Amino acid sequence: MLKYDIVIVGAGPAGLGCAISAIKRKLNILLIDKGTVVNSIINFPVNMTFFSTTDLLEIHNVPFNSMNFRPNRTEAVRYYQNLIRHFNISTETLATVESIEKKEDNFEISYSKSGQSKSIYSRKVILATGFYDNANLLNVEGEDLDHVSHYYQDPLRHFDQDVVIVGGKNSAVEAALDLYRTGARVSLVHRHSAIEESVKYWILPDIKNRIHEGSIEAYLISQVRKITPEFVEITNKHETKKLPANAVYLLTGYHPDIFLLKKIGIHFDQNSLEPKINADSLESSLSGLYLAGSLIAGRNANRIFIENSREHGEIILSDLITKL
Ligand code: NAP
Repeated sequence: MLKYDIVIVGAGPAGLGCAISAIKRKLNILLIDKGTVVNSIINFPVNMTFFSTTDLLEIHNVPFNSMNFRPNRTEAVRYYQNLIRHFNISTETLATVESIEKKEDNFEISYSKSGQSKSIYSRKVILATGFYDNANLLNVEGEDLDHVSHYYQDPLRHFDQDVVIVGGKNSAVEAALDLYRTGARVSLVHRHSAIEESVKYWILPDIKNRIHEGSIEAYLISQVRKITPEFVEITNKHETKKLPANAVYLLTGYHPDIFLLKKIGIHFDQNSLEPKINADSLESSLSGLYLAGSLIAGRNANRIFIENSREHGEIILSDLITKL
């Protein structure tokens, strides 16, 4: 029976960092992901530039070179994918983990790949599944229509179109500016009275000025009531409006995959969705199963990101290695 020292679920930057920490300790590991390596970054907007500078995105001090001090999406994807070859990391991609069960001193990890069910065994498990796959839903009529998405990618398809964006933080603001500059007519719907001060300081004046001059229409203190193939119906305190929409981007944030956490039996806070962990080791409530990356932050997507989760692998491995 094939048995690993560690199976790591999630091949984002946090999972990669854990894999490299384990390889440096000569452990036998497998990195599993339901997509490909750094799948979430691949699904980021095509024109996105990271907020973090290259030095803060580097893992295990492997240099990250870019033409700019803040790299773009393609450069980041290439950098992280190259680490797989550089450290000779074993991966199983396009593999969806269905369950993880503790069996005496081991874990049985069951996953599906290409229509087949498979099981593998591991002494320890690290979950680094992030949050990007689970969008915060508005739960309104029409949210599932074809022209509605929680993931903004490419502005070029929206030239000369009416596009409605919902949300008031970094994703919504960046998408609004990108679309406006590519020739779309953009309406931004936000439930608060101002665009958030948490928007990056070099972007905030741009969006404020575009709204002030009327290039982007902002509908503040407004809620979406329903979405139809032609319009988005919103209300504020005084009125109901129908905003024409060829495309709708609901950029209302993301949250971790609770279904898998529940199924495994990991304890977490029902409101914040923060899993209970030992802060010194990042071990979860299930002994031998560790958590890494933004999954730890629960609903608070602005607490843990690449640059402040790069050390998770070393924190986990220094504890885990003593328990093998
Ligand atoms: P976010 O920070 O969670 O913001 C979500 C926005 O949607 C907030 O304005 C929120 O309002 C609103 N919202 C949530 N649920 C809603 C609902 N039911 N109805 C109406 N509005 C709702 O998500 P994000 O902007 O996607 O950012 C996620 C992470 O990615 C952050 O860490 C961010 O910094 C990062 N990011 C990085 C880049 C980059 O590196 N270039 C670009 C974009 C984002 P409330 O404030 O009331 O909850």
